[in-house]
Amino acid sequence: MTSTQSTSRADKGRLPATAATHAPSVILVEPQLAENIGTTARAMMNCGLSDLRLVDPKEDWLSERALAASSGAERVLERARRFLTTEAALADLEIVYATTARRREMIKPVMTARAAAAQMRDEIGAGRRVGLLFGRERSGLTNHEVALANVVVEVPLNPEHSSLNLAQAVLIVGYEWFQAGYDGPQSVVTYNRTRPADKETLEGMFQHLEEELIICGFLRNDDKRPSMVINIRNMLQRAELTEQEVRTLRGIVKELRYGRRPDRPKRQPNNHIDDD
Ligand code: SAH
Repeated sequence: MTSTQSTSRADKGRLPATAATHAPSVILVEPQLAENIGTTARAMMNCGLSDLRLVDPKEDWLSERALAASSGAERVLERARRFLTTEAALADLEIVYATTARRREMIKPVMTARAAAAQMRDEIGAGRRVGLLFGRERSGLTNHEVALANVVVEVPLNPEHSSLNLAQAVLIVGYEWFQAGYDGPQSVVTYNRTRPADKETLEGMFQHLEEELIICGFLRNDDKRPSMVINIRNMLQRAELTEQEVRTLRGIVKELRYGRRPDRPKRQPNNHIDDD
């Protein structure tokens, strides 16, 4: 640290010392409201970011209001460091992304948060130290501060109303950062105690249904029958039935055929019909 930085109020024991090098640092320039610092810490924690740097904050980041707004992300606030100038806060970083709501007349690449996130992943993967710079609530970043950065990041939004709340901007950029590294499933179906029916089980159900539809007369037209059977099969394939659902459907077909009639076949162990 240089002499322009004040000392850390951090509790260094709580987060892994390397955390900051695996994710971008977040630098807030002259944040005005303790609540915004707290909600920024919360957004950072949501997105796996931990290194918060505050340039001349106007309110105490460990005040009750900030801690309450952080809603469980106190450790980001406890580790936050205060700097006297933006230059000092960026000193140990190699690549800086300046986030702005307004287009600047500067010759500098302007990226969406999504494109920037993918690029930051590559850079951090290659061992570079990266920072995300955010401006003041009221007036954003000065052109001088934007000029300290390598890249400008603009979250594309309604051009008539594109300015985000500070912590919301941190959340969106952080979200894109997190998504760029997310390789989990995009959708999950929970089957509880059952499982998707296999093709043999479905075939048994189709044959059962088709036999009954012939008996009841629904498939009486020989010419139309093959295409009707294909339509019915396609319709039911799309339902992605579970084993339980196949049993229920077969139970329905049986019930429609026999109801309480005396010739109803007896329940057999290997032809179990379950109607729950
Ligand atoms: N009134 C200011 C906006 C301040 S919003 C202005 O006109 O510049 C506070 C900070 O949130 C901004 O400095 C920027 O860092 C970030 N921010 C807000 N909206 C953004 C957007 N659409 N894209 C990228 N960053 C944004």
